[in-house]
Amino acid sequence: MIYPIVKYGNPVLESPAAPITTFDDDLKKLVEDMFESMYAAHGVGLAAPQIGVAKRIAVIDITFKEDPDAKLVLINPEIVHTEGKQSSNEGCLSIPEFREPVTRPNIVTVRAQDENGKFYEKTGEELLARAVLHETDHLNGKLYISHISALKRDLMKRKIRKLVKAGEW
Ligand SMILES: [Zn+2]
Repeated sequence: MIYPIVKYGNPVLESPAAPITTFDDDLKKLVEDMFESMYAAHGVGLAAPQIGVAKRIAVIDITFKEDPDAKLVLINPEIVHTEGKQSSNEGCLSIPEFREPVTRPNIVTVRAQDENGKFYEKTGEELLARAVLHETDHLNGKLYISHISALKRDLMKRKIRKLVKAGEW
């Protein structure tokens, strides 16, 4: 099932999501649907709040279907280590049409559970590190625009308000 993507302005995107405690078939189905919804929206990462589900689940595939082994399921993720620095344009499916340069660590180690509840650690760099940080932020109710200057953020918010008024958001 493909879920519609929740857009900026919906409070679910700015509230911390709840931890997952039950690893059942419903969870597996939700993870599957999240991949499907992410691909349908042409994204490389999706967090559950972005489909209106306030739970600590995110999916990532920076290869966009090229490599099945690259599919990453992050449940209850915690960033345990960061290193270095990278700066690159970043966007978000919930804030379509906008992109801004964001500086983040270049290497990240995340500890998370998979859809079976099994704990694992994964280290990624560059785009993967960026995606892991971006999606983990989502689960803490934090959007990438919190990492840009207040001036740029206000400008973006003003443009979005206009789009909302015009019924185009
Ligand atoms: Zn996002």
